[in-house]
Amino acid sequence: MKKLVLASNNAKKIRELDALLAPLGFTVIAQGQLGIPEAEEPHATFIENALAKARHAARHSGLPALADDSGLCVRALGGLPGVLSARYAGEPKSDARNNDKLLAELADQPDRRAHFVSLLVLCRSADDPQPIIAEGEWHGEIIDQRRGDGGFGYDPLFFVPEFKQTAAELDAATKNRVSHRGRAMQQLIERLNQFA
Ligand code: IMP
Repeated sequence: MKKLVLASNNAKKIRELDALLAPLGFTVIAQGQLGIPEAEEPHATFIENALAKARHAARHSGLPALADDSGLCVRALGGLPGVLSARYAGEPKSDARNNDKLLAELADQPDRRAHFVSLLVLCRSADDPQPIIAEGEWHGEIIDQRRGDGGFGYDPLFFVPEFKQTAAELDAATKNRVSHRGRAMQQLIERLNQFA
């Protein structure tokens, strides 16, 4: 069994990553189980934040570490909330307040296009000079009322035209197959196989 530390403290994100990794024979350990504190995410891009988080977890654990830095980019808001997605409405982090703020910012806005982004970085060690990097996107529209109670974050407002449902209405397996994180994971697996 290959051990992998997940550089996240978001229980719902960890659950999604765990479901994606378990079939590959990875034993997944959340960084919180090892007492590793959350990394700083001071950067302006997803890739820089993902790298910082993966390196931080690898350094503290001495094990390979996988980080996901992700967020929602809304076209009419110039890409916001973007890397600020988790804390869009300020501290403490709150999905409910983030969704309220998004709805307020988009009131009377006809252009509802948005996409999720996931940047996955796998550091085999803290000083890995060639981390494995993958990226996925998921395109949809922001509706004006929450729908569904699955998923997390902005899922209740993110309508996926292909399924005529919000991300929060999709079952977990479907979300993992088509989401930004699921797509990034498929790419990561292809890259891992090249290194195997
Ligand atoms: P991170 O943990 O710093 O990468 O923050 C990611 C934030 O982006 C989350 O707290 C959510 O607000 C948002 N986000 C990322 N992925 C998803 C998703 O799959 N569904 C809904 N919101 C997401």
